Amino acid sequence: MTLLPADQLADQHLDSNIPGNPAYHFTINKPTSNPTAGWGQRPPLVRKASLGTQCVHAGMQPDPAYGSVMVPIYQTSTFAFSDICTNSGYDYTRSGNPTRAALEDAIALLEGGEGATCTSTGMSAILVALNLLEHGSHLLCTIDCYGGTFRTLEHAKAAYGLDVTYLDLADLGAVQAALKPNTKMIWIETPSNPLLRLTDIAAISGVGKAHGCLTVVDNTFLSPALQRPFELGADLVVHSTTKYLNGHSDVVGGAVVAAPGQVALAQRITSLNNLLGTSQSPHDCFLVLRGLKTLKLRMKAHEENAQVVAEFLHAHPAVKSVHYPGLPSHPQHDLAKRQQDGFGAMLSFELKEGGEANVNRVLKGFRWFTLAESLGGVESLVAHPASMTHASMTPEARKRAGISDDLIRLSVGIEDVEDLVGDLERALEGLG
Ligand SMILES: *Cc1c(COP(=O)(O)O)cnc(C)c1O
Repeated sequence: MTLLPADQLADQHLDSNIPGNPAYHFTINKPTSNPTAGWGQRPPLVRKASLGTQCVHAGMQPDPAYGSVMVPIYQTSTFAFSDICTNSGYDYTRSGNPTRAALEDAIALLEGGEGATCTSTGMSAILVALNLLEHGSHLLCTIDCYGGTFRTLEHAKAAYGLDVTYLDLADLGAVQAALKPNTKMIWIETPSNPLLRLTDIAAISGVGKAHGCLTVVDNTFLSPALQRPFELGADLVVHSTTKYLNGHSDVVGGAVVAAPGQVALAQRITSLNNLLGTSQSPHDCFLVLRGLKTLKLRMKAHEENAQVVAEFLHAHPAVKSVHYPGLPSHPQHDLAKRQQDGFGAMLSFELKEGGEANVNRVLKGFRWFTLAESLGGVESLVAHPASMTHASMTPEARKRAGISDDLIRLSVGIEDVEDLVGDLERALEGLG
């Protein structure tokens, strides 16, 4: 039996329904309760490898049963014990599963974090991170956050007594002024959705550290291939793996990653994922792990296409404004160059002559851009934030965030770029 410090013991009580059960102490020491356990097993070479090699090899160990090169899908809810205190290291799939552990290892490795926990959706990853907060805590959040994040925070205000201030995190003076004694978390989404505004992660993390609160970065839009928040001082990274990490629009999933050295935080997010019942299914973990292998290649192709599309739109007479960090006209282009390893493949734009009829005409005029929510898949998508992704924000909140009814958002895929530009040419024909 291992003795734990009192604060960790309190956490671990969350992990078991029956603390008196002999399996209890076994359970708390299982590999998945200790997200760092996998690190020792992984050949150090993978940790030191560069990104493309890491993407292919992260989380991969030949399976001890048959030497399967690909991680098997352990599609089981439960694991056999050989006696009252002994099993293979797993007892029940909600709390731990080898396929999920492989994905968690891989994501932690790519982000350079201490450990990761994988969740059923991006929203449940956000829920896990928010559950680190005590009742009555105050949180600062970027003003143009993902609509679902806004909806969850609004719910948490009413249901859990969370105090939330939405603000422009680019304004450091405003951030300082908004801090309260009970501010426990700063929530960054950079680049933001759908306006592609940037937050200086290093500056905000510095403010957070000085105030003793956690800085969380939703890294969904860039993935660790293009932005590594831990190198800039963040404490936690969250992902909707639904987007670029999986990359094929066939899974919903999420991940929470703790910063390097933050062992207690890594354990806590893993405990919370088990406690809340938000962990990801083995089959979905397998799919995300498969998607990850091509992350570097996909991000490169996405980004090259997005730059061409952004420049085309920027020069088009029907277009009023283009929001893309890769354009020199983007107000934070320099920060993007400094903080990111690339500009990503999300962009949004407004028409000179907007209005519902024109916007609708453009949205329906595409052949290769599918009108759909979501982003980050290999196929190009177009969305209308005001009526789709950001419909859960009130019109006033959208207005405050600068999201107009004329805004059109693109998730640029990896098709041949001539086809995408041709598609935009057709859709915008006769306007402007
Ligand atoms: C999609 C998304 C989420 C939510 O993820 P789901 O997988 O849809 O639950 C959170 N944050 C950002 C930035 C997203 O794009």
